[in-house]
Amino acid sequence: MTFNDFNLADPVMEGIEAMGYEKPSPIQEAAIPIILGGHDLIACAQTGTGKTAAFLLPLIHRLLGDHEADDSIQALVIAPTRELAIQIDQQLEGFSYFANTSSIAVYGGGTGAGFDQEKKALQRGAQVIVATPGRLISHLNLGYVDFSNLKYLILDEADRMLDMGFLPDILKILSHLPVKRQTLLFSATMPEGIRRLTDRILIAPKQVNLAVSKPAENVLQAAYLVYDQQKIALIESLIEGKDLPLVLIFASTKAGVKEVESILKRKKFNVSAIHSDLEQEQRSDVMNRFRSRELQILVATDIVSRGIDVDDISLVINYNVPGDAEDYVHRVGRTARAEKSGVALTFINEKEMGKFKRIEAFLGSTIRKLLLPVHIGEGPSIESYERSGNFRKNFIGNSRGKGGQRRNNNR
Ligand code: ADP
Ligand code: MG
Repeated sequence: MTFNDFNLADPVMEGIEAMGYEKPSPIQEAAIPIILGGHDLIACAQTGTGKTAAFLLPLIHRLLGDHEADDSIQALVIAPTRELAIQIDQQLEGFSYFANTSSIAVYGGGTGAGFDQEKKALQRGAQVIVATPGRLISHLNLGYVDFSNLKYLILDEADRMLDMGFLPDILKILSHLPVKRQTLLFSATMPEGIRRLTDRILIAPKQVNLAVSKPAENVLQAAYLVYDQQKIALIESLIEGKDLPLVLIFASTKAGVKEVESILKRKKFNVSAIHSDLEQEQRSDVMNRFRSRELQILVATDIVSRGIDVDDISLVINYNVPGDAEDYVHRVGRTARAEKSGVALTFINEKEMGKFKRIEAFLGSTIRKLLLPVHIGEGPSIESYERSGNFRKNFIGNSRGKGGQRRNNNR
C-alpha cells in the first residue's frame, strides 16, 4: 500500500513528501480510511508506530474540504503533556505546509505572556487547536473559546491521560463540545478505564487494534452465564463422554484449580493441575505429560497460563472471566492452531459480567451465550447480563468529585 491509495488531496500528498514519509505504517493503513470515512475510531498501537500522522493526514485532508469560515475552531487535539503537544503541533505544521491549515498550540508551562498570546490566538480562532487538558480548561473557564463549529476531537495517548488523572478534565472539556462531531481516540494500551471512556464519548466507533492480535477465525467462542456453585457440574457435562484430546481449564484462584482437579479426579478423569504451590520440577512433569498427550485435562491458574506453550488444544475453558482482553485472546489462541478448529468457553458469574462485556467491546463482537444444561438449573439471566456494566452511569458517578484518578490500578 502507498499513500496514493488514500486519495488524499494534492497539498496533503505534497506535505507527506516534504516530511519524507514513503509508505504508510500499519496503523496508518488501517486508520486513515476509517477517519476519511467519517467514523469514530478507537486505535490502539504501540508507541512509535506512527499514530500522529494516522490522525493528522486525514484531518488535514478533511479540513481542506470543509467550507466553514476559515478561522473558526474545527478540530481539537488533546494530548497529556506539553512535549507531546509540541510534537503534534510541529508535525501538523510540517504536513499542512501546502494545505495552509491554521493551528494554535495551547500547552502552558510558560510565562503569563504565553497565556495572553494563547488567549488572543484562541479569540481569533484557528482550524486546529492542540492542547493539554489543564491549560485548555484555564482558557475555557474564561469563556472566550468558541467550539460551536468543532467537528473533530482527537484524544492522543488516552491511556497516559487517564494515568495522569486527567479524566475529570477531559469530561469537562467534552461538555463544551458539540455532540455532533467525529471523535478519534489513540492509545498504546487499552486498560479498563479507556473502555469506559470510549463507551461514553464515542459513537459506534470502528476499532483498529495492532497491539494484540485477535483470536483466529476458526475458534468457536461461546460463554455460559453460570453461578459459581454450578460450574463443576457444567464442566462435567462438557467433558463427560466426549472424545476431547486436550482440555485446558483456567481458574483465577489456586483453590478453584485444586477443587476442579480433585472433583474431576474423583470422577476418574485423566487430570492434573498446575499452580504456584508446585515445585518447578513437578510443573515441568505435568506440562510434559500434557504435551505428550499422556494427560488429557490440565487445570491451571492464571499465573501460569502464559507459560503454557501447548497449542492445538481442543477445548479451553475459562472457569473465571480472564482479567483482561489480552489474557482472553492469549488463552483462546491456545486452541485451533493451523487450520484446525477449537472451542473456547468462558464461564461468567453474576459478578464478572461487566468484565466480560469489556472483553467483547475489545473484540468488537458479542460472544454467544449458551444455555445451561437443564439438570444444572438456571444461571444468571441474559437480561441481567445485558443490563450489567452500564458504564456511562457508573463512570460519571465514580469519576466526579474524586479529585482525579491518579491511582490507576487497572494495568
Ligand atoms: P506514535 O504516536 O505511535 O508513538 P509517532 O507518530 O510519534 O508514533 O511516530 C514515530 C516516529 O515515526 C516519528 O518520528 C514519525 O515521524 C515516524 N513515522 C511515522 N509514520 C511514518 C511513515 N509512514 N514513514 C516514515 N516515518 C514515519
Ligand atoms: Mg503518539
